[in-house]
Amino acid sequence: MNHKYHVMVIGAHCGDAEIQAGAIALKYAKAGHEVTFLHLTAGEKGNPSHVTVEAYRKQKVKESKEAAKILGGKSITLDFRDAELKLDEETVTAVSKIFRELRPNVVITHWEKSIHPDHALCPKIVQSAWLKAALTGFEIEGLAPHSITRMFHSENWEDMEDYVPDIFVDVSEEFETYLRALSQYDFIMNSSDFRYFDYYQALGTVRGCIARTTYAQTLKFPVGMNTRKGMSIPGFEL
Ligand SMILES: [Zn+2]
Repeated sequence: MNHKYHVMVIGAHCGDAEIQAGAIALKYAKAGHEVTFLHLTAGEKGNPSHVTVEAYRKQKVKESKEAAKILGGKSITLDFRDAELKLDEETVTAVSKIFRELRPNVVITHWEKSIHPDHALCPKIVQSAWLKAALTGFEIEGLAPHSITRMFHSENWEDMEDYVPDIFVDVSEEFETYLRALSQYDFIMNSSDFRYFDYYQALGTVRGCIARTTYAQTLKFPVGMNTRKGMSIPGFEL
């Protein structure tokens, strides 16, 4: 391997990161790269009526660890509260601190347009934390500055407004294991609000059709960095 990457997939709630880029993360893990799933909240307020919010938080953290293990990565859940995420100093510093400690190179997170306010804030928190982690002028517990190399958005059913993929990643070999990881989450298998499992199985199939393979997951460049989408025209591939 020429270069070892640390890929960090960051979601607003436990389950988002794995849903969005779990198969891509597994592809990296299988190639010997490091993978971390970072959840800003547990997503504990989507609790079924017979489970308390606190008990559901514990359940989701446990499910996230099982899913991460199957996908060849680690799972970290921060203490922020579901549906109360903020783009503030405390949140940005907490994520910056993780960037400085764990030093990821590639970060994948939500698209910026979402019906869920926590999802829409997540990429803004990530970009602010990227800046803060990189600037020597910010002191965070004596940790050395660290700059991420690349950031991408990925697909979530709640974030689809104007999401047009830039990169299709062939995950045919990883897709079965990805679905097994998703099945660790009770809400993905049993939600009465949304057919998560069916949706993501079908999405991987549809994206695979477009990519002329069996299964694919997609990525999107951040707005403002979206100036170079490819290096070649047909017949002149590099
Ligand atoms: Zn979510």
